[in-house]
Amino acid sequence: MKALVYNGPGKKSLEEKPKPEILHPSDAIVKITKTTICGTDLHILKGDVPTCEPGRILGHEGVGIVEKVGAGVGSIKPGDHVLISCITSCGKCEPCRKGMYSHCANGGWILGHRIDGTQAEYVRIPHADTSLYPIPKGLDEDAVVMLSDILPTGFECGVLNGKIKPGDSVAIVGAGPIGLATLLTAQFYTPSKIIMIDIDNNRLEVSKRFGATDIINSTEGRATEKTMQLTDGAGVDVAIEAVGVPATFELCEEIVTAGGIIANIGVHGVKADLHLEKLWSHNISITTRLVDTVTTPMLLKTLVSKKLEPLSLITHRFKLDDIMQAYETFGKAAQTKALKVIISA
Ligand code: ZN
Ligand code: ZN
Repeated sequence: MKALVYNGPGKKSLEEKPKPEILHPSDAIVKITKTTICGTDLHILKGDVPTCEPGRILGHEGVGIVEKVGAGVGSIKPGDHVLISCITSCGKCEPCRKGMYSHCANGGWILGHRIDGTQAEYVRIPHADTSLYPIPKGLDEDAVVMLSDILPTGFECGVLNGKIKPGDSVAIVGAGPIGLATLLTAQFYTPSKIIMIDIDNNRLEVSKRFGATDIINSTEGRATEKTMQLTDGAGVDVAIEAVGVPATFELCEEIVTAGGIIANIGVHGVKADLHLEKLWSHNISITTRLVDTVTTPMLLKTLVSKKLEPLSLITHRFKLDDIMQAYETFGKAAQTKALKVIISA
């Protein structure tokens, strides 16, 4: 089968690989129909994720049709149309029993990382019963792919951890796919203000179409001042970090109001300063989380009821044969205006 293989920092290729087989009774083999590329895949390709070894098939998002299942699989069967969660969970270990699937002792984020992933014709999914979700009839497959990772990530790490309430003022720092997924799901709770902050005017314009009440281009370094103007000098109730660099986290520290919450989503590679000399008396909370995908069933219902319409996150479509070009387009998002790309089998 064809698969996109990571061959060490800076190196990837579309290669012929053996079709995966059932290795454990809880496995399923899924024929991929749609997949996508994530910012995390670009991090792997830069060499930022040393636990991902050369030879690995990338990809942790997708939908497909179950081809076969192991003897221990109960609720998933061949022919099922399924959503593949970016998080693999056994459902039985202590973290899983706490609903913290991301820290599953037998899974977590392993797909396209420690085991072969979804940017291929077929993928092996361990713990299929608790890691695959049957797709309700009538849903657009492309929209469902957005539920593998970015929508639960934005919702759980940003919106739920940020405890957004009706009337809150919210700032989302970073208007990439994750920031936009946060923007879409924040609106479940009717905040009064959602301020999007980014350095890319195209992404800020997209944010307005997605429901942002205000946009700030932070290129000139005046994001704090502008946020204060928009909130009568108070700052925001919830500051969500959706980039993963020190400057954006420190911006959240500057714009959060007394009693507010900083919810971090970004994947940080280096330390950021914590300004306790200012924040010690401000009653703030800081939260971090890796997506658990515990809200995936709920998010599927919001797709069915059309309360969530993520299709507009998709800007480009490619065939698996052209996945190298898809990476090129996704990797140069500032020029190509790419948000999410869909790759079809
Ligand atoms: Zn991802
Ligand atoms: Zn587990």
